[in-house]
Amino acid sequence: MNSIKEYEFWFITGSQHLYGTETLQQVERDSRVIAEGINACGKMPCRIALKPIVKTPAEITAVFKEAQYNDKCAGVIVWMHTFSPSKMWINGLKNYTKPYLHFHTQFNRDIPWNEIDMDFMNLNQSAHGDREHGFITARLRKQPKIVVGYWEDDKPRQKIADWMRAAAGYAVSQKLKMVRFGDNMRQVAVTEGDKVEAEIKLGWDIEYRGIGDLVDAMDKIADSQIDAQMNEYAKVYQMNTKDVDAVRYQAKIQLGLEKIFKDNGYSAFTTNFEDLWGMEQLPGLAAQDMIRKGCGFGGEGDWKVAAMCRIMKAMTEGQSGGTAFMEDYTYHLEKDNEHILGAHMLEVCPTVAEGDIKIEVHPLGIGDRNPPARLVFDSKDGDAIVVSLVDIGGRLRLIVNDVKACNPLHKMPNLPVAGVMWKPLPDLQTSAEAWIMAGGAHHSVLSYDLTAEQMHDWAKMMDIEFVHINADIKIREFEKELFWNDIAYKLK
Ligand code: MN
Repeated sequence: MNSIKEYEFWFITGSQHLYGTETLQQVERDSRVIAEGINACGKMPCRIALKPIVKTPAEITAVFKEAQYNDKCAGVIVWMHTFSPSKMWINGLKNYTKPYLHFHTQFNRDIPWNEIDMDFMNLNQSAHGDREHGFITARLRKQPKIVVGYWEDDKPRQKIADWMRAAAGYAVSQKLKMVRFGDNMRQVAVTEGDKVEAEIKLGWDIEYRGIGDLVDAMDKIADSQIDAQMNEYAKVYQMNTKDVDAVRYQAKIQLGLEKIFKDNGYSAFTTNFEDLWGMEQLPGLAAQDMIRKGCGFGGEGDWKVAAMCRIMKAMTEGQSGGTAFMEDYTYHLEKDNEHILGAHMLEVCPTVAEGDIKIEVHPLGIGDRNPPARLVFDSKDGDAIVVSLVDIGGRLRLIVNDVKACNPLHKMPNLPVAGVMWKPLPDLQTSAEAWIMAGGAHHSVLSYDLTAEQMHDWAKMMDIEFVHINADIKIREFEKELFWNDIAYKLK
């Protein structure tokens, strides 16, 4: 799995020859100061690469052509220091499909009241140069991310950093290759979908392998490799079981999975507890430790949630809040204190843990295999989002709900799995009504690091439908939004 730090964003300043050499040199110098200032601020997950200022249609077309085909370039950031007639940009933008941010800023923060003259006015013209640029992106239906603000302020810088993470998610999505061990769970609808459409729209290569391929890979794992993996577990987790053999079996599963991942370039996978021929345990600890390290996972053959888990993990690289495959499991319906208890049979990611993370072995109520080793822990307090991607028939819909996640309200000594509790916004009744109305899955990805705005940006980059359940939602308006979206997407 590549690091998103390897990506760069090209900073392109627009101008024109009208102003003369001296002004253009000043534009070039100012652009450098802005790009270097943003790079040095410590917020950016990726580097900004400054490109020479563009002044002609040929220069603009050339730089966008290069940006489109350069694998390191994950997106461009444009800014009009002066006026830059935007017909010049049409050919460059027409064939450019990667993420696009329009940074509406100005080199000078304040008007120099005593010195200001017409030269200053002509040099610092983004107030109307960026409006000219906005017209052409609107006319071309480009829908760039628009960030407005003084370039030295924290707020616009944070917005650029957040958008970079979404754009990195776009790049990761285009290259994503994943494996489904077994098919989707029998008769389940929401985990299904059009894999050809997902590859066209999102770039995902979703491959099938029989579980026998994993059993085969596991058979080739040496005891010494298992010993080394057990040492790795001991560095991160507390052993809270005497059944060492059950834990060693999970180590063997993990080593087998990692071998298959390495040989085939996979970064996400699904399992299905109905399809475990030749396996003694359902992957539990093995899956959890791999998800912790950035791998995507989906239970019961849910390939959409597995890929989203991988992409959202990549988007949050270097952050510490935590991102996990999740499932709405059961409710606490105490009046005015309603909560959702999220968990899964086994595979909750330990990046969302607070306190000790224990390896335990317990029987599984569902399925007919040996008691699997798994990680057990509690979750932390914090603002989070839950995200579900569904195939609504003819298109993909991304549903995001803002939530307040927390530690379980009380101890649950008999619950042998990790869990997260959350209070969905605006409240459980409205959130669940909207979620169910939109067809949101019981599987989701929960993230303490990402925001709905970042997922919105990502959905726009991927050209898929986005709906947001938040503190301000009005259920009848939401119903209308779904209805209108249906019509709009049929016309598209
Ligand atoms: Mn499930």
